[in-house]
Amino acid sequence: MAKKATGEKVLRGIGVSPGVARGNIFVYKIADEVVPEYDIAPEQIAQEISRFEAALVTTREQLHDLQRRIAAGVGSDAPSSILDVHMSITEDPALIEPVMTGLEKDHKNVEHLFNAVAQRYIKTLAELPDEYLRERAADVQDVANRVLRNLLGRHVRALDNLPPNTIVVAYDLSPSDTSSLDRKNVVGFATDVGSHTSHTAIVARSMNIPAVVGLRDASQHLRDGQPAILDGYSGALVIEPTQQTLFVYGQLEVKRHTIEERLALLRDLPAETLDGHRLVISGNIELPADVPGLQAVGAEGVGLFRSEFLYLKGKDFPTEEEQYQQYVQVCEAMKPHWVIIRTLDLGGDKFHSEEATPNEVNPFLGFRAIRFCLANPAVFKTQIRAILRASAAGNVKIMYPMISGIGEVLQANEILQVVMADLRREGIPFDENIDVGAMMEIPSAAMTAEMIAQEVDFFSIGSNDLVQYTLAVDRVNEKVADLYDPTHPAILRLIRNCVEAAHNNNIWCGICGEMAGNPLYAPLLVGMGLDELSVAAASLPRVKEIIRRLKLSEAQELAAATLHATRSQDVLAMLNALLRRIDPDLAG
Ligand code: PEP
Ligand code: MG
Repeated sequence: MAKKATGEKVLRGIGVSPGVARGNIFVYKIADEVVPEYDIAPEQIAQEISRFEAALVTTREQLHDLQRRIAAGVGSDAPSSILDVHMSITEDPALIEPVMTGLEKDHKNVEHLFNAVAQRYIKTLAELPDEYLRERAADVQDVANRVLRNLLGRHVRALDNLPPNTIVVAYDLSPSDTSSLDRKNVVGFATDVGSHTSHTAIVARSMNIPAVVGLRDASQHLRDGQPAILDGYSGALVIEPTQQTLFVYGQLEVKRHTIEERLALLRDLPAETLDGHRLVISGNIELPADVPGLQAVGAEGVGLFRSEFLYLKGKDFPTEEEQYQQYVQVCEAMKPHWVIIRTLDLGGDKFHSEEATPNEVNPFLGFRAIRFCLANPAVFKTQIRAILRASAAGNVKIMYPMISGIGEVLQANEILQVVMADLRREGIPFDENIDVGAMMEIPSAAMTAEMIAQEVDFFSIGSNDLVQYTLAVDRVNEKVADLYDPTHPAILRLIRNCVEAAHNNNIWCGICGEMAGNPLYAPLLVGMGLDELSVAAASLPRVKEIIRRLKLSEAQELAAATLHATRSQDVLAMLNALLRRIDPDLAG
């Protein structure tokens, strides 16, 4: 952290969503870091008791719910028997009675008393000679954390009601955090951890607000209300900026404003190369609230609706009707353009709730996306019904995530046929010719693209996962971020394979991973023959400008040359040289 005599501090991280925000810091913290302690009046005791009882009831409900999900998921009761132990802890008089006595005697708030009792209990257990009883200390801690979270609310501070011009600073923002965000008042995100493809970055780009990740321990040092400038271009977070810094940023803003104004003129122009080759540029959204941002930059449809974000809000999965309403809203707004609804991609780093987080060593290789849906046909059918019903109102396409081979496509299509037959029987209208696509994001799918192409109407390459799975590099782990390389020769070959297989089978191939939104890669993707690029609103104008300054012939030459390169440094050198030549402003 660079500290100037004036009190200004500059923190440096990775800029992952362009733009500059000025605002005030709001530090978002997880509840169990702080257990408040305060005095209560004797007449508040009854209220504290009912808060405590309600938290215990909620904890039991959560444990029941978890037990149900685990039993449904693994078909065994082994892990749920651990939950029986947890359940009995919530009823243990040794934990409950001292809290009740403490309320009468000490007149302190219930979370403070409960935490003190639980910690004493855990210490005693941990010191016992019997190994079995010693191990129960961890169970009591687990249950105590749950009860405390339920007493305090999941977070000490909510993200759904923030003052205007807020820059949210957090250790990290999970998909469920961002799905409940007050989108009106947040002007930027800054997180301690993260990478270009982590969800904080993806959501910021969809919301078209600047974001900086990888700020290490910023969330521990910063205070609410500190004025700041967040620079999503260079990755800087300037705390308490001086007049001089404000002036410099003012000047930079003028320069960037000129570029943004030039880009805004492209809004209604096609994504067409100088020699007349046209692509579709559509946009990625997480929630219907992202649609106006896409319309503002002239997106030709939604190429990826990450529908799981609807499942991250609230306690229960959304009903068919709730989903239907959201899908219809998006497709009405985007008409006549298409809306590609990606079926549920829960798992990996996206979970319905903290309680539903599965106990998996490797969640990215685990029970995720289409795997979860095929194992839970009732959940899958509800979503397919909602999507099909929405298809009567607009141009809707279905897309399956995490396809690893033809088998999953056939299984998913079978369920689709069953749901279609149900709707026909019930006389409910839907698009009988709805297009169905597969995400190409697992190497085994990209390598067998010829087979899959015969069963679907389009492909969309999910480069975020394709890179992670091909190179064995965790997409959200900043320690291996330098190994996360979309220009690796293996990735280029897999992309080429998908495009060729699609075209040989007369279907189209798009790309909706973050690679599509980086102006540096645009000429390569055009040259490789991609038909559609689906990008975040924040990236769309830049990508369109590059396409409009490019000739298809030179893009094809570039793509052929990169496929001969053996090192990604050489590929990057070619891409940088071309970008500098056709658009020096964007080359930076
Ligand atoms: C991808 O993997 O590239 C993708 C677009 O999906 P997500 O980022 O939601 O995994
Ligand atoms: Mg993916």
